[in-house]
Amino acid sequence: MKKTILALASVAALAGPVQAQTYPARPVTMVVPFAAGGPTDIVARIVAEHMSKTLGQQIVVENVAGAGGTTGITRAAQSKNDGYTIMMGHMGTHGAAPALYANLKYDPTKDFEPVGMAAGTPILIVAKKAFPANNLKEMIAYLKANPDKVNQAHAGIGAVSHMTCVLFNSQVGIKPTAVPYSGTGPALNDLVSGQVDYMCDQIVNLVTQIKAGSIRAYAIASAERSPALPDVPTTKEAGMPEYEVTAWNAIFAPKGTPKEIVTALSSALDKALDDAPTKARLLELGGVLPSAKERGGEWLGAFVVKEVARWTPVLQASK
Ligand code: ASP
Repeated sequence: MKKTILALASVAALAGPVQAQTYPARPVTMVVPFAAGGPTDIVARIVAEHMSKTLGQQIVVENVAGAGGTTGITRAAQSKNDGYTIMMGHMGTHGAAPALYANLKYDPTKDFEPVGMAAGTPILIVAKKAFPANNLKEMIAYLKANPDKVNQAHAGIGAVSHMTCVLFNSQVGIKPTAVPYSGTGPALNDLVSGQVDYMCDQIVNLVTQIKAGSIRAYAIASAERSPALPDVPTTKEAGMPEYEVTAWNAIFAPKGTPKEIVTALSSALDKALDDAPTKARLLELGGVLPSAKERGGEWLGAFVVKEVARWTPVLQASK
């Protein structure tokens, strides 16, 4: 009898570490809450590829688009918290959404186990190639003169492309026709073909098309120019210093995912970010890698609290 109890006790004591040692025993799903081909998808696929190698199991990206990313994040937040479903969130889903959705089914500050920051993504103001303006000042003048003619693409209410252009438009003083997409990947296709006039989006989606000359970039809304796009002026240089915003993409797991598993995921993410080819791919697309102190779940959790607090009043005021 005594022996059995002892045996059971040691099995129980081992349960945690054993679970972590055997994790992952099968592929892990990473929910991307936007269409394939856009910035969140791009960042997810780049880091997931290297994380898969570290974890010894494939991380499979699943695109679940809708409602500015909140559909996919809601679904991922409510899935089993066993480490086999994780998600790539961003400044919209985990910063802006509470201010814009009265019935949001998750709380970014409470319903997740933060895994880590994947990349900072400065915002650019871009337009179709035929947009009749040579620089940001001319663009703003055209927008002001033609507020009923212009349309602006975004990836749904609360998406980064929505919230950052809400800010841009309110600073310019216009309310253009907004055209929603399931992600800025498909929005960019329509910008390239000239179906929509302009958008505000995360750099990693845009560098290739800007370099190819198939869209126009008027300004980058960061303090410094991006090494990936040295010719694009900052908003400060281009005459709109009050418009400065950098978005981000980060990995989260559902609340209650075992700590050992979250730690395994965080360190796999760190390894990906320290891997030279992975790093190079993110940097050439203009991604900003998290510094040593910006790594891991603890930092990300505190950052999300600050982001929600920062965006809620700004977005409520510009509504
Ligand atoms: N960048 C997009 C946004 O506006 C979403 C995407 O990644 O497609 O939030």
